[in-house]
Amino acid sequence: MAKYKLEYIWLDGYEPVANLRGKTQIKEYPRFPNLEEVPMWSFDGSSTRQAEGHNSDCMLQPVAVFPDPMRKNGVLVMCEVMLPDGKTPHRTNTRATILDDPDAWFGFEQEYFLYKDGVPLGFPIVGFPPPQGKYYTGVGYAAVGCIAREIVEAHLDLCLDAGISHEGINAEVAKGQWEFQIFGKGSKSAADQMWIARYLLMRLCEKYSVDVNLHCKPLGRDADWNGSGMHANFSTNFMREVGGKSYFEALMVAFDKYKDEHIAVYGPDNHLRLTGLHETQSIDKFNYGIGNRGASIRVPHSFIDNGYRGYLEDRRPNSQGDPYKIASRILQTIATVPTKKRPKR
Ligand code: ADP
Ligand code: MN
Ligand code: MN
Ligand code: MN
Repeated sequence: MAKYKLEYIWLDGYEPVANLRGKTQIKEYPRFPNLEEVPMWSFDGSSTRQAEGHNSDCMLQPVAVFPDPMRKNGVLVMCEVMLPDGKTPHRTNTRATILDDPDAWFGFEQEYFLYKDGVPLGFPIVGFPPPQGKYYTGVGYAAVGCIAREIVEAHLDLCLDAGISHEGINAEVAKGQWEFQIFGKGSKSAADQMWIARYLLMRLCEKYSVDVNLHCKPLGRDADWNGSGMHANFSTNFMREVGGKSYFEALMVAFDKYKDEHIAVYGPDNHLRLTGLHETQSIDKFNYGIGNRGASIRVPHSFIDNGYRGYLEDRRPNSQGDPYKIASRILQTIATVPTKKRPKR
C-alpha cells in the first residue's frame, strides 16, 4: 500500500469566470487508483460563492483522474460540484449540462499570455517592445525572452506525463503570448483535460512568480496587439462519417440562428476581441468560410475535399471561456439539426 495525494479540483461560483480550486486528501491504495475508487468529498461552498454561510457544504463528485507529475504519488481528480444530496448538480456545474455523446470529438486551442509584474512576460515595465511580426512561432531571446520557453516546455511535459491528449504548442503573435492544443474523444473529455492543463500551467507558474492571463484582450481593444482565443474544433460521428453539403448548410443555418446563445457562453469581454480585425469576425455577425481565418467558423480545406465530412473550427470562443459551456452549446445547436439520411440522388 502507498499513500496517495489526491488533489480534488473543481470550478468555483465566481462570475463571469469561474476559478479553479483544489484541495488535497491522503488515501492509501495498493496502486494508482481508478475513478471508481476515488470517493466523493465535500468543501465549504460559502468560501467559493457556491453556498450561504449557514448551510455551506457542497459535494465533489470525481469525474476523471490523471497522474499528478508534480507530486510523488499524486492524483489529479477533476470533479463536478453537487448539492448536499450528492446527486443534483450545483447551479455552477456547467459540465453537467453537456449532452452525453461518446463519439463527439473536440480540439481546443488555448491561447494565453504569461504575465510578470503586471505586463506580458518580456515587455518592458514602461512602454512596449517592438511591434508584432516576429514573435509568432519565433525563436531567440528577442522573440520569446528567456524563461517563457522553459515554462512552456515544462508545461508540455507535465501534460504528457499526466496522460493528457496534448497536441502541440506554438509561440503566438503577441510577445509573451502562447498557445497549446488539447484533443479529446467523448463530449466531455477535451474540456476535462483543458481544465487540468490550465491547472497544471497555473501551478507551474507559481514558482516563477508568473501569472497566466487568460483575458481575451489584456492589452485593450485599441492596442495593436492580438487578443487570445480558444478556437473550438468539433466533430460528431455523423459529421465525420455521413456529412454532406446539405447537412453542412443546415448546420450553418442553426449556428447562425443561435449566434447570440453561442456568444453568451464563449467568454466575457469578447466584444473587445471580435472586432473584425486581427483574424476575427465581428461579434454581432455570423459567417463561415473555407480556410477563412476571418470567419466565425472556418471550414478546413480537408472538410470540402472529403465531401463535406470531418470537423469544423468555431473561432469565436475566447481564451477565458469555460470549455464545458462551449462544448455544451455546440452540441445543443448540432442536436437541433436532423441527421436523417436522405436517399442518394
Ligand atoms: P489552427 O491553428 O490551424 O487552427 P491547430 O493545429 O492549432 O489548428 O488546431 C487544430 C485542432 O483541431 C487540434 O486541437 C486538433 O485536435 C483538432 N481536430 C483535428 N481533427 C479533429 C476532429 N475530427 N474533430 C475535432 N477536432 C479535431
Ligand atoms: Mn492553432
Ligand atoms: Mn493561435
Ligand atoms: Mn485555430
